[in-house]
Amino acid sequence: MSIKVTSVSKYYKTQKALDDVSFSAVKGEIIGFLGPNGAGKSTLMKILTGFIRPTNGAVFVSNIDVLSNPIEAKKNIGYLPEHNPLYKEMYVREYLQFQAAIFKVDKSEIENCLIKVGLQTEAHKKIHQLSKGYQQRVGLAAAIIHNPEVLILDEPTTGLDPNQLIEIRALIRELGKEKTVLFSTHIMQEVEAICSRVIIIKKGEILIDKNLGELKEKNHQNIEVTFDYRIEEQFIRRLPNVVSYKNNYDTTWFITFDSKQDMRPIIFDFAQENGLKILGLNRHNKNLETLFTELTK
Ligand code: ADP
Ligand code: MG
Repeated sequence: MSIKVTSVSKYYKTQKALDDVSFSAVKGEIIGFLGPNGAGKSTLMKILTGFIRPTNGAVFVSNIDVLSNPIEAKKNIGYLPEHNPLYKEMYVREYLQFQAAIFKVDKSEIENCLIKVGLQTEAHKKIHQLSKGYQQRVGLAAAIIHNPEVLILDEPTTGLDPNQLIEIRALIRELGKEKTVLFSTHIMQEVEAICSRVIIIKKGEILIDKNLGELKEKNHQNIEVTFDYRIEEQFIRRLPNVVSYKNNYDTTWFITFDSKQDMRPIIFDFAQENGLKILGLNRHNKNLETLFTELTK
């Protein structure tokens, strides 16, 4: 098991940050750790990487107990903390040499690492001269210099422009081929773009822990329909597979169906049979974004 977290709770004095969190990850998984600000993402990552201790619970990385054996555990962990703290006065190559020395990694690994993150042409520059996206690559390079089994990335894409975003996401996917990656974000699309699995956390508790495929298989579809006349709700209830409905305004209804079949033609026929005309008909797939919003609001 690459990561095993068992019943971890964390209190900062009386402030609860994590409440009985458990999950595990096997090699090769890329897990999106998704939650609004203050959900406890950074706290869990600091605990996983041995930087702070939990109030209760156990944490294992590469089957090593992080709490009793933090130095050994850290050899298997690459960590990119939130806000990517770097020594920006250092040259890129110099900074990686410094990181390599900490982990007693052979200097020859540095060039490899520069290639992996696409920094060969920037290696002679000072870190502060690089764009935010390239600074992020330096952080990633430093995190993988000792070839750890597990990568912990705390909001690695925050503050990047759209092109940089695409590049860093691709890089994370690439790195994820040979490592277990846990990365945090508050953006659902990011999880869809990178991950095989999502853990949604809110107020220190795990709400959902599922493979992306499982989440997408949900058959719910939302349809917004506007008729030409106001109708009674018992009409709506006569439609097949209705899960819930809401009269949004006047003649517009927002209906959730549980069906694999596209329900729009059925609504159309239904309207005709009842002498109604349809002025508007929109299908909104209940995508991960709405699921996330519903769960975390
Ligand atoms: P996230 O990374 O998901 O935004 P954090 O793990 O940073 O969330 O924070 C979780 C909760 O713990 C928040 O309510 C935050 O204010 C609180 N918290 C985080 N660090 C500290 C600290 N050092 N002292 C007190 N409270 C903290
Ligand atoms: Mg955070």
